[in-house]
Amino acid sequence: MAVFNPQQLKKLEQQAKRNRGHFSHAQLNELQAQLSCDLDTLLKALLPVAATFSQAPISHFNVGAVAYDKTTGGAYLGANLEFSHQALSLVVHAEQSAINNAWLNGANEISRMAISDAPCGYCRQFMNELDKCAELAIMLPTLNTSLKELLPSAFGPQDLDNSQRLLASTQSNIKSLSHEISDTLKTHLQNAYAPYTGNLSAVEISTQSHGQFYGRYAENAAYSPSLSPMQGALSQLALAGLKLDEVAINAITLVETKGYENQQAVADAVLKSYATDAALLHVLAEME
Ligand SMILES: [Zn+2]
Repeated sequence: MAVFNPQQLKKLEQQAKRNRGHFSHAQLNELQAQLSCDLDTLLKALLPVAATFSQAPISHFNVGAVAYDKTTGGAYLGANLEFSHQALSLVVHAEQSAINNAWLNGANEISRMAISDAPCGYCRQFMNELDKCAELAIMLPTLNTSLKELLPSAFGPQDLDNSQRLLASTQSNIKSLSHEISDTLKTHLQNAYAPYTGNLSAVEISTQSHGQFYGRYAENAAYSPSLSPMQGALSQLALAGLKLDEVAINAITLVETKGYENQQAVADAVLKSYATDAALLHVLAEME
């Protein structure tokens, strides 16, 4: 099987860090030529690169995932993220991290996922919320399969009469805000996916020298696998090779939909896992 040598992996890791875990279609083409392999083999060959972004202080089990966006032909890395001294239910799984990375950066259709280990039940359920998930191909180290095969008799959005899907939800408009926020954060708020609670919400982590990082709420029909905006933003930071308490933070903003807010507690909980005194600015939005 085609694999990158240690030197190539080091270079790819640096490249991924600079691009926050994104490889463009042109870059993938180049890498495919380098390995003379098919796309699925290349996605699997990128898994060790993805896994280097894992932050797993509890399990020390580093998982990598790669989501392929059919519409742009680009790939997005993901890695697991654990929070010390917090409930295990708050961890971000590598598959969630890759899908979140793709979604936040404009992917429209994830058609293939490569994962370094078999996806847990929670992740199968998370992937089941994706638009066109019935056609989702899944590549594991020793098996190429599909979500359909891994999650038969699935419970999903249709069981709750939800016709929206992750990566294909309709954009909402903002009526008013309790505090001014950046235009990019507004866009993430408008594109959050909260069909079950109605709490469109998003987070912006603004750093002094590494730019901004975003997260938006991704709900799930089974509720528990939902990804909070703060978890999503911290996962984005991890994919740039950074940790919250190792970078200077200018501001952290959480914006939620007034009357439906439910994210402050989880945001505070995961922030407590880091040695940072960065305060959370809580903004309420009224949506149209
Ligand atoms: Zn999982």
